[in-house]
Amino acid sequence: LNFGQYMVTTMWNYGDKIAMINGITDERLTYRDIVKDAMNIAVSLTRIGVKRGDIVAICSENRQEYWSTFIGTSCTGATFTATNSAYTKDELLHVLNISKPKMIFCSQHAYKVHEKTLRSLSYMEKIIIFGTDRPPNTLLYNDLVKNNTNITLENFRAADVVGQTDTAVILYSSGTTGLPKGVMLNHLNILTTCNMSSTMNPKESSLTITPWYHTMGLIGNLRIFANGGYFVYLPKFDSDLYLKTIERYQIVQIVVAPPVLVALCKFQSNYDVSSVKLVYSGAAPLRSDTIKAVKDRFPNVTSVLQGYGMTEATFGVTRDSYDTAHLSKTGSVGRVVSSCIIKVVDIDTKAPLGVNQPGEIYIKGPLVMKGYIGKDRSEDFDDEDFFKTGDIGYYDEDRCFFIVDRLKELIKYKGYQVPPAEIEAVLLQHPSIRDVGVVGIPHADAGEVPRAYVVVQPEANVTEDEIKNLVKEKLSNPKHLRGGVQFVKEIPKNPSGKILRRKLREMSQIRNE
Ligand code: ATP
Ligand code: MG
Repeated sequence: LNFGQYMVTTMWNYGDKIAMINGITDERLTYRDIVKDAMNIAVSLTRIGVKRGDIVAICSENRQEYWSTFIGTSCTGATFTATNSAYTKDELLHVLNISKPKMIFCSQHAYKVHEKTLRSLSYMEKIIIFGTDRPPNTLLYNDLVKNNTNITLENFRAADVVGQTDTAVILYSSGTTGLPKGVMLNHLNILTTCNMSSTMNPKESSLTITPWYHTMGLIGNLRIFANGGYFVYLPKFDSDLYLKTIERYQIVQIVVAPPVLVALCKFQSNYDVSSVKLVYSGAAPLRSDTIKAVKDRFPNVTSVLQGYGMTEATFGVTRDSYDTAHLSKTGSVGRVVSSCIIKVVDIDTKAPLGVNQPGEIYIKGPLVMKGYIGKDRSEDFDDEDFFKTGDIGYYDEDRCFFIVDRLKELIKYKGYQVPPAEIEAVLLQHPSIRDVGVVGIPHADAGEVPRAYVVVQPEANVTEDEIKNLVKEKLSNPKHLRGGVQFVKEIPKNPSGKILRRKLREMSQIRNE
């Protein structure tokens, strides 16, 4: 039950179909190309000493070798772990020291930046480089794939593993609430996700720029492959290039995090984007004004769909998909997928809640991780083995889910729990406010009070009182901005556009001292 073998067999059968296109060079890889390279990587890695249970890492921008490396490594029975290639030295050390890989695949660029760090790690035995130039004491990916040209589905067999226990992948959470956590996903987790139908129509083109070291890119695209679809990819996000690529490839579906959508909607250009029909958003809350802006920008978009997921659940736990788009409700993240059970519990008593009652979302099923690497399960799972997501949400009478905020972010004002996202949504309605982040700051009598960090539009003129009054007019007493308003140049966010409220809290500590 090795998911690598499953992918090899499935992808082999798609044969000469195009699997992915490099949106800059127009280089195309077929399913057979990827699978052949993956099998070669598996054989070569085994020959140079990789065994079941070993850890193999990757540190690279999105490049075509990524998928053969990922699938090939899994076929050896080793655990694959992906790191962000833009990490600083300390960030990279943090994640590598959690998993301690014995080999790492690196892009030329990542190697140049991190050579010294990688050389200092006692557990790192080999470094494998993508591209054609081989630095001293490294191996070349191109040499590893060249070895066995006669490899076929018949003469290849992946290592045996136990689906429920062997860790297939260690992925890192985004680090929105603290340091990134190493999430252990087993082969069953990945197989279950690959077996689910696609959220996107596999017959139509899609465009992706989400980084592949994160679940949204790595598992999201693996699902496209499992379903026989194809995608165009770009190494990183740039509005002009993105819109130009839509025109060039007549892209029908796009997958993006909310801030990218905002950037695309604001960017002025004359590219023809009328081919886009479906917009898919995930990773962070999508505001209703963004949905409206998307429909203005892309004239033929019939649906803006959302999914809710997390690294700990392999990929997504609720979603709307292209074939159920007509049932989707504005603002909802869709219905729960079949391989998952959700319960919404009261944040104090932990008792299960009913329709339209917000509480913490707990999840269980074959999509949910084994646990965090190096951490006991007991803290993050309840007595019935549900994983506590830390997200607040509710479902309506049609079992459509809505995400309210994160439990950790709730502002504790007297006995009330105030979701900052609700205050942010109100402030963003103000035409002069471009961006905003709200956090609770310590208060002697009340516990915490909300403070807003506000970025104003260029040349706009708006006062603290005006902003406070807007909140007073729209929201109940505990949500009023008793902690004041601070004007800033930028709201700190991570690459997928999540507000880093811990950074805002650090800013407020500095101000209070
Ligand atoms: P960390 O766990 O390290 O603090 P993170 O939770 O941001 O970081 P991810 O696993 O990448 O790491 O993100 C999952 C989280 O993203 C979810 O728990 C939820 O809070 C948020 N999220 C995902 N999809 C949506 C969505 N559609 N709407 C609102 N929030 C979402
Ligand atoms: Mg998280």
